[in-house]
Amino acid sequence: TISKRLETIARYCPKGARVADIGSDHALLASYLLVEDIASFVIAGELNEGPYQAALKQIHTLQIRDRASVRKGDGLAVINPGEVEVVCIAGMGGQLIASILENGKEKLTGVKRLILQPNVGEELVRHWFLENEWQLVSETILEEDGILYEILVAERGDANAPYAQTDRTLEELVRIGPFLWQEKPPQLHTKWQHEREKWTKVRTQLERSDKPEAKERLKQIESEIEWIDGVLACLHMDK
Ligand code: SAM
Repeated sequence: TISKRLETIARYCPKGARVADIGSDHALLASYLLVEDIASFVIAGELNEGPYQAALKQIHTLQIRDRASVRKGDGLAVINPGEVEVVCIAGMGGQLIASILENGKEKLTGVKRLILQPNVGEELVRHWFLENEWQLVSETILEEDGILYEILVAERGDANAPYAQTDRTLEELVRIGPFLWQEKPPQLHTKWQHEREKWTKVRTQLERSDKPEAKERLKQIESEIEWIDGVLACLHMDK
């Protein structure tokens, strides 16, 4: 069995595709894609020795070595241009995901779809898409064991197309996610509720502080909370 998170990622993988899973840890996603006959070939890339060994072991145990290649290296360095059609990067911060894509741009030749699951900093991934002509084609937010996960899928195309909605600015939609904003799933409300709680805690701390810079910061946080309230109000209205 596999987590709901990884299973959802796998569902975005076209049947028969050649896939690279970067930062594959124990190669759980990579092996699932092969065992379920979703991918025709997978590269499991890992930077660190421990998870790399674990991935090798997993692929060996499942006897799928003929369709899998476990490679040790940093980000997209493990793939050759044209080798895969799909790249998955999951379970890392958005900043790391964006930097892996940025540093390995030339390796994306022939790649048609990116399936990314940032743990935090989703907006940095959306920014990277905008700047590199990747068009967001789908977004999902799901909850598993009390944790919220977002999955962003992109293909080459018109990066601005998903941002044509006019009730929010581009910057706001980059933060919220244009498809999530359109679909307004209940998990999106939960996410922004959590964000609001986080900022109200910071607000309480700042209110108690007598540092001179606290006042300025407090103003910023109050306007952030106000913005989140506006987002939450819309998510409520549509329910
Ligand atoms: N992708 C799996 C998942 O979603 O369940 C594993 C996520 S795990 C938290 C992140 C993995 O990425 C770790 O095994 C780590 O060693 C690896 N990693 C971190 N930075 C990397 C990089 N620059 N290139 C390749 N792998 C990296």
